[in-house]
Amino acid sequence: MAELLNPFKIVQQQLKTACEKLGYDDSVYELLKEPEKVLTVNIPVKMDDGSIKTFIGFRSQHNTAVGPAKGGVRFHPDVTLDEVKALSTWMTIKCSVVGIPYGGAKGGVVVNPKELSKSELERLARGYFRAIASMVGPEKDIPAPDVYTNPQIMAWFMDEYSKLKGYNTPGVVTGKPLNLGGSAGRNEATARGCTFTIREAAKEIGLDLNGATVAVQGYGNAGSVAAKLLAELGCKIVAVNDSKGGAYNPEGLDPLAVLKHKENTSTVKGFPGTKDISGEELLELDVDILIPAALENVITSKNAANIKAKIIGECANGPTTPEADKILYKNGILVIPDILANAGGVTVSYFEWVQNLMNYYWSEEEVNSKLEAIMVKAFKEVYAMHKEKGVNMREAAYLVSVKRVADAMKIRGWL
Ligand code: GLU
Repeated sequence: MAELLNPFKIVQQQLKTACEKLGYDDSVYELLKEPEKVLTVNIPVKMDDGSIKTFIGFRSQHNTAVGPAKGGVRFHPDVTLDEVKALSTWMTIKCSVVGIPYGGAKGGVVVNPKELSKSELERLARGYFRAIASMVGPEKDIPAPDVYTNPQIMAWFMDEYSKLKGYNTPGVVTGKPLNLGGSAGRNEATARGCTFTIREAAKEIGLDLNGATVAVQGYGNAGSVAAKLLAELGCKIVAVNDSKGGAYNPEGLDPLAVLKHKENTSTVKGFPGTKDISGEELLELDVDILIPAALENVITSKNAANIKAKIIGECANGPTTPEADKILYKNGILVIPDILANAGGVTVSYFEWVQNLMNYYWSEEEVNSKLEAIMVKAFKEVYAMHKEKGVNMREAAYLVSVKRVADAMKIRGWL
């Protein structure tokens, strides 16, 4: 049988397994297998040359049993409705793994933002947010950044919504710039949370992070900051890549210098003193820690058996297929699943929203220590479940999380 690669089918399978292991009747899975609400929008945008181009966008609210829907918006040429539905489902699971009071949502626009001018991008961002405005709001659904979106785009979202409302509404979006109600520490939060979980995983398996080797696949906000934070803990970053190529040096790379090189040349490739490395080679390097920090389905049945890392910290959403998961588990590799490893982003989004609602702001130290407490607690809960039930970390995370969502649905009377 062909390997399952449709992310929505994958998450449905993951949910089904969890519901079965938890001994639930079909009603729980039936309610969780589809999003509560999905909107498809057509967005006309005036281009700089005066022509009109139409873009397709989506917003999916998966489940709101625990609280308002929460999740980022992705601008990427490969976005599909099924991908957005899958990502919204993973957000429900993710928020529940770390115990924050949100359900899951996700949005996406089919576009390559790198091909738009800044003013075209602004018109697209505003057009998308106007189109989904009736669906979002601080008490309903709170978007945030995801692949190829950033604080500037969040500022346009927030501005557009505030104009529609007639008053400033910072709590409608998180990941905003600091001077518009953003939170200290939000930019680094995904990677910082991932780093906390890697540190805890390393303790469990007796891996000394001082001198541990790391390969990072994807050098956007999550990957580049994870490289920097792990280097601060003494790790040696030996290989990094992005959509244009990779850079490898077994002696180690300076993550900040690599980022500068990427800013100047638009890729990490060609960083002085490194050899080119392909994406496939990077994943199979003999390193202690592997960080997939780009897109879905990069670790599959084709390469999983060749992966040598001891710990995989999934900064990206959905990087590992179910087939690959089985192989990695059999080979004794500790996978910290996306729904735990990258939950630091949405956790600090939660802090940002809380600060917006009370209009009182915390220091970066305060944010980081609250984040650490949540990530360490969630890691320990999932790790304990993994040991107790003899299942991999992803299944363990689903067991912890789906139970919380199902309990909320039951007590609300939905089931
Ligand atoms: N896009 C991020 C994620 O996949 C963050 C979502 C948020 O902050 O709401 O977790």
